[in-house]
Amino acid sequence: SGIMEQDEPVTLDRAAHASARALASPLLDDVQEVLVSEQHIARRVQALGQQISADYRGREPVLIGILKGAVLFLSDLLRALTIHASVDFMAISSYGTGTQSSGVVRILKDLDHPIAGRDVLIVEDIVDTGLTIRYLLDNLRSRRPASLRVCVLLDKRERRQIPVELDYVGFEIPDRFVVGYGLDYAERYRNLPFIGVLRPEVIRDQGG
Ligand code: 5GP
Repeated sequence: SGIMEQDEPVTLDRAAHASARALASPLLDDVQEVLVSEQHIARRVQALGQQISADYRGREPVLIGILKGAVLFLSDLLRALTIHASVDFMAISSYGTGTQSSGVVRILKDLDHPIAGRDVLIVEDIVDTGLTIRYLLDNLRSRRPASLRVCVLLDKRERRQIPVELDYVGFEIPDRFVVGYGLDYAERYRNLPFIGVLRPEVIRDQGG
């Protein structure tokens, strides 16, 4: 059957991926420590999906993914939802450089559709100082959604400069610069399947 035909290449692809990972990887070589494993992320995202599905029962939220860091989180979270939901994206850029956020935000790509009267759930990778999410909340609230909530994978609470209410949080993490599962350093490492910390010499060598 068609299902059987698709089964084999998928299995082969998985095996190839696993053996490639066991070999030296230019990505893994740069990682000092794994903070949140692939399995922990998967379990937590499933739980968040169930909770959000229960909380929004009978409604049809629009998930707003913040590009590019939230892309992997959003795609896994979306698959964990058992309710109707739509997706839109915003791309923003802070004027800050390197690993520091300045809180001054520029919209690089706005939403495709209006959100007035909609139940809006912002899906973000990480909240650090809180400046970015505060800007997003103010910006989106001015468009008169029916409701507005935040779902964030990582909360670096120690670093908060502005208080923000986060409705759904994946993990609270210490004050470390993290990469992986969508989060980058100089556009690299988004494809790591876990949340990790880079070796200091990697930051030195690739930093501006
Ligand atoms: P905030 O405005 O809350 O200080 O920072 C939010 C943004 O800063 C995140 O969306 C992310 O782009 C970036 N950021 C903050 N901490 C980290 C981190 O540990 N790793 C990475 N890759 N980005 C971070």
